[in-house]
Amino acid sequence: MSEQPRVEIYTKEDCPYCEKAKDLFDSKDVEYETYNVTGDDDLFEEMVERADGRKTAPEVFIDDELIGGWDDTSALDETGELDEKLGIADDTEDGEVLEHRKLIIAGTGIAGLTAAIYAGRSNNEPLVIEGDEPGGQLTLTTDVANYPGFPEGISGPELVNNMKEQATQFGAELENGIIESVDSDQRPFRVELTNGDVYTADAVIAASGASARTLGIPGEDELMGYGLSTCATCDGAFFRGEDMLVVGGGDAAMEEATFLTKFADTVYIAHRRDEFRAEDYWVDRVEEKVEEGEIEIMKNTEVIELHGSQEEGVDHVTLVENDQGHPTDRLDDPETEEFDFDVGAVFFAIGHTPNTDYLEGTGVEMDADGYLKTKGGDGGGQTETHVPGIFGAGDVVDYHYQQAVTAAGMGSKAALDADEYLEDLERADSSIEEVEPAAADD
Ligand code: NDP
Repeated sequence: MSEQPRVEIYTKEDCPYCEKAKDLFDSKDVEYETYNVTGDDDLFEEMVERADGRKTAPEVFIDDELIGGWDDTSALDETGELDEKLGIADDTEDGEVLEHRKLIIAGTGIAGLTAAIYAGRSNNEPLVIEGDEPGGQLTLTTDVANYPGFPEGISGPELVNNMKEQATQFGAELENGIIESVDSDQRPFRVELTNGDVYTADAVIAASGASARTLGIPGEDELMGYGLSTCATCDGAFFRGEDMLVVGGGDAAMEEATFLTKFADTVYIAHRRDEFRAEDYWVDRVEEKVEEGEIEIMKNTEVIELHGSQEEGVDHVTLVENDQGHPTDRLDDPETEEFDFDVGAVFFAIGHTPNTDYLEGTGVEMDADGYLKTKGGDGGGQTETHVPGIFGAGDVVDYHYQQAVTAAGMGSKAALDADEYLEDLERADSSIEEVEPAAADD
């Protein structure tokens, strides 16, 4: 065996980010030990102590050094420092092109993986860059009940893993990393990763999804991972018996609040208006839990500050309430009531921001929120952006439907559009080759 440093990962059951951490080390062929803290109080205490008080899984250690949770580990991977710590950093010169690919796909959510399956089958040998959140949003969902073909439902991570297997079977190559920039001033495109790797590509499919939003309020940075979370399925079980607060009024907030009733004393939902955005299906399920006394709803209410410490977790929050809704816009209104509220954990479920920073400067058009604009409409080319050769699919384009099945549909369209583009490109290249020798004969 090589002298690989010792990698240890504390995990728990139903923990998508634990799976992501394991996938990351698997993709690097690095061996690791896992300790499952679920149901083992001593092991849980050991993890909390070694992780400087953090009560969230995973917690990763390399040679006894605390690396942290998934965010910390992937951030270190982004800069290439993780590979250095693991002793597997490559020695390519900075800026040197590693490889040319016909097609690079950004993202391994449902859209990116479906594009990879189709592109693999079209012999476009796609390189799929996993991105900030490998597997995408579905890896945070325990039960996907509406994906066609699975009458009993399927877990999000299992669906994603099946798709990864299917994509690699057809020749797609998956690589851990985050795209930092795409240079569209040159053809092929120059694609740079945050870890310094550089590729060129004839076409790019942007399927980089959207990431969980936060509020930007005091206490947020300090308490993220210490009682504040954007993933109820990941962290809910750590706060068993506590009162918990879910912020938001969409499907995600309703689903998370319902899920958290398994662990919480009482789940509170704070929503900034008096009407939920969520589908009736979810609102009805929440109403059932309200009747059972497990959920309480606080409408026209927003959080303005989180209180607590990294040692003790979240202690309480400051809320504001105004019957007219959006109380943070009415802080000067005498009708706005401000009060402290005791909770042991807070979960933000306030939507997502599209991951499109790496396309700034390419000429690809985006809306005010950063979602990519594609041609859409009828007929072929629906996933084309305004830059020929760059295509968009999934939540990075679709701010409205945002369903796994619609993302899959767009992913397949993007791969078919890219295939047509690549074939045109090949035809144009071969006709230039045919003309050139003829000109030389003259
Ligand atoms: P949504 O955008 O649908 O909802 C976000 C919620 O957060 C809204 O209620 C919004 O309030 C609130 N919000 C946004 N910003 C703030 C803020 N700054 N302060 C306070 N509240 C804020 O996002 P979701 O993540 O819930 O859902 C995204 C998509 O995923 C949807 O299409 C949904 O259908 C789908 N989904 C489906 C699920 C399922 O069926 N199993 C589960 C989860 C998601 P307001 O309403 O006032 O704008």
